[in-house]
Amino acid sequence: MPEQHAGDDDRASRDLEINPVFSREPLRVPRYALPDAEMEPDTAYQVIHDELMLDGNARQNLATFVSTWAEPQARRLMNECAEKNMIDKDEYPQTAELETRCVHMLARLWHAEHPQRAIGCSTTGSSEAAMLGGLALKRRWQQRRRAEGRPTDRPNLVMGINVQICWEKFADYFEVEPRYVPMEGERFHLTAETATQLCDENTIGVVAVLGSTFDGSYEPVAGIAAALDDLQSRTGLDIPIHVDGASGAMIAPFLDPELEWDFRLPRVASINTSGHKYGLVMPGVGWALWRNEAALPEDLVFHVNYLGGDMPTFALNFSRPGAQIVAQYYNFLRLGFEGYRRVQQTCRDVATGLARRIAALGPFELLTDGGDIPVFAFRLRDGIEHFSVFDVSAGLREQGWLVPAYTFPAHRTDLAVLRIVVRNGFSHDLADLLLRDLRRVLARLDKQHEPHRDAEDAGGFAHGAETKNPRTPGRH
Ligand SMILES: *Cc1c(COP(=O)(O)O)cnc(C)c1O
Repeated sequence: MPEQHAGDDDRASRDLEINPVFSREPLRVPRYALPDAEMEPDTAYQVIHDELMLDGNARQNLATFVSTWAEPQARRLMNECAEKNMIDKDEYPQTAELETRCVHMLARLWHAEHPQRAIGCSTTGSSEAAMLGGLALKRRWQQRRRAEGRPTDRPNLVMGINVQICWEKFADYFEVEPRYVPMEGERFHLTAETATQLCDENTIGVVAVLGSTFDGSYEPVAGIAAALDDLQSRTGLDIPIHVDGASGAMIAPFLDPELEWDFRLPRVASINTSGHKYGLVMPGVGWALWRNEAALPEDLVFHVNYLGGDMPTFALNFSRPGAQIVAQYYNFLRLGFEGYRRVQQTCRDVATGLARRIAALGPFELLTDGGDIPVFAFRLRDGIEHFSVFDVSAGLREQGWLVPAYTFPAHRTDLAVLRIVVRNGFSHDLADLLLRDLRRVLARLDKQHEPHRDAEDAGGFAHGAETKNPRTPGRH
């Protein structure tokens, strides 16, 4: 909230004091107001640099999915492109060309029928890509309904309650009723049967997640597609799938080539991924692709001037940095298929190895084992009542590790878990160190008589697995 200042009132009213070691004027600058005058660039740099040192240590952050490391050559290219605006296709035709090449590479990776005719675009991340994917579904449904002379005022979107918060935003911002399939028992994501049960003539599409943020599991995209095929043959309802592959669309092609989740399934209309997750780029890039022209209604596409010609664009933003797209192209060129496969396989090996050893410690039970995306969730075994997962998370935090603990959404709000995200750079060595610290924390927690922390104390720590606003899941 822009009008609120972080921290207590006392701090907010105080100026930012500059350490006199710099021996430069001014020694105080207002914290929340624009300073009256200029200062030396080196002083400004040092003030900000020092303050940012308080940000966490990315190496020990096992909460985020987003890249925290890039090769020096990728960083150099990003610096060289810092001033390039992605929308100025006319001015930076080569950057635009690299974007097009990335779209084509992804189209091949995801088995598009005609990759040379692939349609897709870069975005700021999977969230913007989800808005575009959802809008295309909504517009296609509206056009079909209007052609049939039927009402278009009650669109709905079917998905698991485990979807990332961007889908709740899409439904809210673009006025589509979200139909969430709740969790039930040991089922923590969408299944074929539960998805089709909520579909009707107003369903614009089904979102299938390849890599749930709650536990790292793949949803059964092929099974959902088959159930929707069956629904169509029984009822005539033809409901497309959008695959949210924020993480998994950059894991499955390399590690699970036999798994059919992509454009090989005719029912998959569109796919998104986060270039800045397992695409291995620094924050700020995602991708959205459609299987063909029919899947992306022409009236959603705008046209910008491009070398005297015309360039179609579909985006929520106008200006946007081009550096991340260049870095994505760098990674594709630098790693190739085999390089990506090795990086992702290492992440999976570290995740599954760490999961196995955590399960062997005694008090924990795995929900997932890191064998889909390299992310796994675990809970306390029944009978462990003298400490909570929130105590474990806090204990690890004292050692510098960020391992979020959170409760699941409806109908499993009783279930509290810890989650570990393994990213490029989290090595077997670091996993050993984490395990050593986890053993120490457990030795201390074993002396407790009752839990010290609960979900209330862990607010806002789940990074992408935030619990949704209370509302009736799966409401018709
Ligand atoms: C991270 C994530 C998102 C949001 O992606 P951003 O790139 O952070 O905008 C959406 N869906 C899933 C499944 C995710 O993991």
